[in-house]
Amino acid sequence: QLLPLGVAGAAFGVFGVWWLSRRRMTLRSELTSAVRRGEFSMQYQPIIELDTGICVGAESLVRWSRPDGTSVRPDLFIPVAEETGLINALTDHVIDQVIQDMRELLVRDRSAHIAINLSAGDVGSGRALKVLSAKLQGTGIHPQQIWLEATERGFIDIQGARTSLAAARRAGHCVAIDDFGVGYSSLQYLQTLPLDALKIDKSFIEAIGTHSATSPVTSHIIDMAKTLGLFTVAEGVETSAQLAYLQARQVEFGQGWLFSKPLPAEEFIRYHEQRLKQYGKAKENMQNPN
Ligand code: C2E
Ligand code: MG
Ligand code: MG
Ligand code: MG
Repeated sequence: QLLPLGVAGAAFGVFGVWWLSRRRMTLRSELTSAVRRGEFSMQYQPIIELDTGICVGAESLVRWSRPDGTSVRPDLFIPVAEETGLINALTDHVIDQVIQDMRELLVRDRSAHIAINLSAGDVGSGRALKVLSAKLQGTGIHPQQIWLEATERGFIDIQGARTSLAAARRAGHCVAIDDFGVGYSSLQYLQTLPLDALKIDKSFIEAIGTHSATSPVTSHIIDMAKTLGLFTVAEGVETSAQLAYLQARQVEFGQGWLFSKPLPAEEFIRYHEQRLKQYGKAKENMQNPN
């Protein structure tokens, strides 16, 4: 009686695999022409200093809009770009675009920074760092104003990762480990990496105040960052209850829909300035109490 079901299931499975691989192949060829035609743009999600409310910078996030007006999510096309080697051209494009969009702001406000996401290949080869250093020459942007985010997925070869992260820090960049907690990170292994910051993955922020099994882990992650002397950035802050928890635990920075969704360059610049007007006083008062 179960046999027909099994056969149907298998057929469905085979069809699913075929469909997925076809989709990937289409995506692959589409990506190639998208890079050529420059269908990518950047958005900027504000990063907030949690104790003052000031916007200290943004994370740059790539967006792909097809000519027909539809868009593809980066979690779908970045892995394909990595597999096909198109990631090099894409990362170069991201660096160019960030410099073009943010140069004026970064030169005007030396305390502002922009974070760039690096892919597996980017970290391993150290190529992206060389490209970035060359492109920053003569722009007036300080390397300290460009932060680099790398996920552990990028650390296929741990020794290679260590070498290129160390080179990035020597060049003056701040280095953050992205999506922290979802990989295989152990304290022992983290200790050996040259890092400045941990970005706590949004799944752990979501768990705050819930009764899920993940909830106590969030607290441990914060402790871990403090033990290692790293500062922390919380990703995906959506509620004021989450914010209150993070402030109480002295997490330094946060980003998420509670503050703002990722914004086009112009809108981010306006947001940054408006926030400085609104919360800059609080910061001054904290620095010179009385
Ligand atoms: P990520 O670096 O961890 O980026 C954070 C993601 O969380 C972004 O998704 C952002 O839009 C989303 N997010 C921010 N706040 C909230 C919130 O409050 N709630 C929820 N539900 N989501 C929030 P996005 O832009 O779709 O990017 C996905 C991933 O794609 C990134 O994760 C990053 O790994 C990769 N990516 C994005 N841009 C680039 C890029 O320029 N280069 C590379 N190599 N990877 C990129
Ligand atoms: Mg990131
Ligand atoms: Mg992340
Ligand atoms: Mg993430």
